[in-house]
Amino acid sequence: MPPGILHEQVSTALANWHLDAAESLLADVDADPTPGVAPGAPLTSLSRAWSDTLRAELLVRRLRQAGLTLLGDPIDESGAAAQLQTTDDGARSESAAQAAAAIALVRSARAAFDATDDELQRAAGLARHARIELLSRRVDAAMDEAVEAASLLDPALAPSPLLVHTLGALSGVLADLELMPLALDYQRRAHHTALRLAEDDPGRGSLGLVGDSAARLAALCAEVGEGLLDDGSSSDADPHFAEARALAEETLAGLPDDDPHRPTAEVVLGSAQVGLGEHAEAVTTLTRVVGSLPADQDRALLASAELALGRALRRQDRGTDADDHLARALALATEHGLPRLRRAALRELCTLHADLDDAVRALPYLQAYLADELDRVDERRTRWVELFGRRKSLLETERAAGQLRRQAYEDPLTHLPNRRYAEGRLDGLLAAGSAPALAVVDIDHFKSINDQAGHPGGDAVLRAVAQLLVDGVRDTDEVCRWAGDEFVILLPDTTAEQGERAMERIRASIATNDWSALGVDVPVTISVGIASAARGDDRRTLFAAADGVLYDAKRSGRDRVVRLSGVTQTRAEDGGVDDAPAPVAPVLEGELLDLDTAPVGDTSSPSGADTVTDVHPQRSVDDPAARTARPTDVLFGGPRDVPAPRVDDDHRSSREGERDGVDAPGADAAGGFGRLLVEPVPAPGGPRPQGGGRVVGPATRDDGAGEGALDAEAQPPATRTATTPGPDVVRGAGRSTEQVLALVREARRDHPDRPAVVVGASADTLVALASEHDAYTTMDHAAMAAAVGPVPEPRGRVAVLSAGAADAAVAAEAAFVARVGGAGTVRVDDVSGSRLRGLLADGSLLADVDCVVVVAGLDAALASTVAGLTDAPVVAVPTSTGQAGGFGGMGALLTMLNSSTAGVVVSPVDDGHAAGVVAARIARR
Ligand code: GH3
Ligand code: MG
Repeated sequence: MPPGILHEQVSTALANWHLDAAESLLADVDADPTPGVAPGAPLTSLSRAWSDTLRAELLVRRLRQAGLTLLGDPIDESGAAAQLQTTDDGARSESAAQAAAAIALVRSARAAFDATDDELQRAAGLARHARIELLSRRVDAAMDEAVEAASLLDPALAPSPLLVHTLGALSGVLADLELMPLALDYQRRAHHTALRLAEDDPGRGSLGLVGDSAARLAALCAEVGEGLLDDGSSSDADPHFAEARALAEETLAGLPDDDPHRPTAEVVLGSAQVGLGEHAEAVTTLTRVVGSLPADQDRALLASAELALGRALRRQDRGTDADDHLARALALATEHGLPRLRRAALRELCTLHADLDDAVRALPYLQAYLADELDRVDERRTRWVELFGRRKSLLETERAAGQLRRQAYEDPLTHLPNRRYAEGRLDGLLAAGSAPALAVVDIDHFKSINDQAGHPGGDAVLRAVAQLLVDGVRDTDEVCRWAGDEFVILLPDTTAEQGERAMERIRASIATNDWSALGVDVPVTISVGIASAARGDDRRTLFAAADGVLYDAKRSGRDRVVRLSGVTQTRAEDGGVDDAPAPVAPVLEGELLDLDTAPVGDTSSPSGADTVTDVHPQRSVDDPAARTARPTDVLFGGPRDVPAPRVDDDHRSSREGERDGVDAPGADAAGGFGRLLVEPVPAPGGPRPQGGGRVVGPATRDDGAGEGALDAEAQPPATRTATTPGPDVVRGAGRSTEQVLALVREARRDHPDRPAVVVGASADTLVALASEHDAYTTMDHAAMAAAVGPVPEPRGRVAVLSAGAADAAVAAEAAFVARVGGAGTVRVDDVSGSRLRGLLADGSLLADVDCVVVVAGLDAALASTVAGLTDAPVVAVPTSTGQAGGFGGMGALLTMLNSSTAGVVVSPVDDGHAAGVVAARIARR
């Protein structure tokens, strides 16, 4: 068997979702050499990388089939809310295992591709990986890999079939990333490469390659043409359609009758004819292809044929026939993960029903269309095109030494590994069962060193301290710059005592070093906190522990090393560990290295459990320890003399805020969320904001450091502490469409930076809104709500649970408002009976949320049940629907108000909006 054929067969099987077939083919693939490598070559690491890549793709596709939605949900015209897929435990853990396996395969394959000197192989691997990332909806990762692949595809590369494939694969990824002009460029290059190959060797193989690349190019031309038609510029669209038709006709003329590439060319021909207005011809061409395509072959081709046919029929005003074909195209595209086809089908369906004046049927299609992640943010795409060009040239110049990978993990000032590296490495060590010690090092009074020696002098001190740290540790220890004047040292398989001795030596060497050459005549000293991991500790726990004792070192006078050991044991005495959320299963959507979920807050102190809350009163809601605090710890804000310092989302500031605010009178010693509802007020006459510009209450600071002006990193307190105002709300009930449109226009004009939210709107109003504001509208037809304007990136997480079907609309409204208010949301409907048992049994849903909204009428006691399961604040929404004798929601309202569990606040009856606003505010903090 010639090289690569097996790979191609696996790829085709995967693309058509014949996963079992792909799996059995994969069993043979290890025996098959790498694509483009001579047959008979031994199984190289590259061959292994290819088979790992294909296996990873198989797993990702299996996950997709298991119900992890990659693309939008199937369209449900009944308006029922989309629900969280609650699979049973077995399936869930199997999915988690598959996800973990896929991630591991992707990693090892990427490492092998990165290590090879063969740039074409690397580019081919990267393009393939970008496709896998897209299947997992990790758009940014896909973008990164596509850029890197592009940077490797030097125009001087000799033509080869692998080059044609790689250029084509990259073009496909770029098209899915909505970078159509770039996609067109790369496919053109693929086609020209194929033509050159055919000139040199006009065998059947290269003719097939020419046919295939021509058909892909033609398809892209037709697609770009459709885009231009949609934008109303048919004169710009025509040349693209004409090129598509010419390419398709040329291809068909050159292919034998039985050639497998013919149907592709015919579909493209049909699509071009539709674009050129030759509807009758198009219908003839396409009907023939649709009829002749084998049912289980090439679903993507069938989907695009159905789409083109539906389009032709719609433009011939044959609405019912068009609807059938378009609905089939949509179903195929959804089922097989074809985002562009899906969006085009949605757009056609929406236009079709809007033309038929059927707003209610148009609405779900419109919503799904607007909800599409890639389609919505035009700005983002423009940025990407720029980014692509810039990053590509950057990569091209820096590629030589593989610098880029290093850069991602290197601190430019000290050339030490950076925080990203440290986090990944620590995760790796802990996951491998190693018990590292972790030292957190912070330079004492570094601000005054900066003041004395100037910023460049401060930089020199940082470099020198870095060097002394590196010199002082063993080769196996790793010194990383964490941030600012803070370093972390990973000491694998080291006890805290051993680590303490090492750090003590280093501390002394720094304190006795001669710093005068750097223009610093005060002694430079460091404070160090050190903790060692016990089995079961995660990175955050360990970091928080070391950081907690660093704080103690600072407080007890600086220039010292303080040690804590047995993090888990100490926390266990605190009772926290018993309630700790189960480790989160790997999820494909998640970042492998997550910089935004940096460790926050202190979880322990050297003297044990009873001092924890005394020493570290403020915890961010991001702090796992805060989440595991028992509900009984929660103190709602009562009368206070002094507003508590705000815990913000910036890791450094919040952590430093903890140190600074330590003695603030009125601080909520239990770390409860009462504080979250208190607006921070800069205290007049109080100490100035320090460090990161935080506001501290008029407390006694633990030292007199940093009395100078705001440092360079500081921002004015007002900008750091201001609450983002919520969206403007327009209630649709009782208003005409025109009135709502006018109010939205006004809100957009007054506050272009935030969305205007419309709730309780009619279908007609929603359609009118979406047509007026097009790409700026986010919509939820279950909630009958829309948001016009930029929706903030989600921060924090809100779970919205509803008890019965009658509560779903209010729940949808709450979830929608929370999402457009800037929180991530997860919905679970019908939480009663077995679902409630599932929720009770599996705490993972509630373990990771910042606020829970419970919507219930008949089952109003659900709010109190849920509050018993979580320490996140619960916002209960009583509903009036679906119950005789509910007294217009009064029954539910009273039940909720009389909740037997603490931690529940109650919103007005049926007011999903109010609950959503509160929940988003809590989550975003
Ligand atoms: P403490 O003993 O409590 O740590 O006091 P400190 O003055 O060191 O306070 P802190 O650690 O909060 O201050 C860190 C300072 O480091 C604040 C910031 O201006 C400065 N800094 C952060 N990054 C850099 C850098 O790259 N170069 C220089 N020169 N200074 C930096
Ligand atoms: Mg410092």
